Amino acid sequence: MYDPQNIFAKILREEIPCKKVYEDQFSLAFHDIHPQAPVHVLVIPKGDYMSLDDFSAFAPPADVAGFFKAVGTVARELGLVEGGYRILANHGVNGGQEVPHFHIHILGGKSLGRMVA
Ligand code: AMP
Repeated sequence: MYDPQNIFAKILREEIPCKKVYEDQFSLAFHDIHPQAPVHVLVIPKGDYMSLDDFSAFAPPADVAGFFKAVGTVARELGLVEGGYRILANHGVNGGQEVPHFHIHILGGKSLGRMVA
């Protein structure tokens, strides 16, 4: 079950602040509080989805399209296209997911090497 008390739900309700970089009807993007690269931004859907698993299974197609278009828009607006960037999404225990609201990490600003360590 989706936990409405998770930290990203609180950010969406503006109960706690974030360093916002982008918002539209589908999504909100903000800087990660513990950046793992010179640029580390999180993009979250506005709906109550725990991870890519239920987002891909249950979100209306227009919401899925709108969300992923926002991810690309954020990367462009951050100036990451020319130099390159990485997106990732963690699901569940093996994925190392900490916050149970679906989010895409956008990482860039330096060479990130190949995949994960
Ligand atoms: P994940 O392991 O994929 O669930 O990643 C959760 C991410 O959320 C981590 O990179 C955290 O640093 C980040 N995070 C946790 N709390 C906040 C917050 N209040 N504002 C911004 N980022 C956060």
